[in-house]
Amino acid sequence: MTYQLTPLPYALNALEPYISEKTLRVHYHKHHQGYVDKLNELMSAHPGANMPLEELLINSSGTLFNNAAQVWNHDFFWKCLTPKKNQAPNGRLKEMIDKKWNSIENFKTAFSEQALNHFGSGWTWLVLRNEGLEIVSTTNAYNPVVIHAKALLTIDLWEHAYYLDVLNDRKAFIASFWEIVNWKFVEQRLDA
Ligand code: MN
Repeated sequence: MTYQLTPLPYALNALEPYISEKTLRVHYHKHHQGYVDKLNELMSAHPGANMPLEELLINSSGTLFNNAAQVWNHDFFWKCLTPKKNQAPNGRLKEMIDKKWNSIENFKTAFSEQALNHFGSGWTWLVLRNEGLEIVSTTNAYNPVVIHAKALLTIDLWEHAYYLDVLNDRKAFIASFWEIVNWKFVEQRLDA
């Protein structure tokens, strides 16, 4: 068994102008593919040790964990985005966000501030933990699977996610992110 690069759920140019085709090509075909290749290379030293990716996250550490988690994180990140611009949360998700942050706009502000202020590489997530919504940020490859929280939404804060488009302007990247969030996917995760 080898780990595969999960197909992107849209074309490389589908997120323009918010994420350019150039950025998505490098991010998906170089960075994401690179984590998959490195993971398979590391696992080849342990024949018979293969397991589903989420199990591997719980049962690994160091370089192996880092590459496995980055594969999982990118699979998840692509699903959080959609070419259908300007979507909004609905249903139970909207109710839970309104209850915790008073409005979607307040939630987006809180999430954006945490993402903007996260030092260095990592990810900011909306998660479900103990029946409640929380915004959490993780460093490098670390993710909600290992803190037993259910990931609902994430933004990739590694500079490779935006440097080609906006250089080091993470704030501009975060603003673009909100234009292409796949809220339907976030709602499905909540109810899954
Ligand atoms: Mn990335």
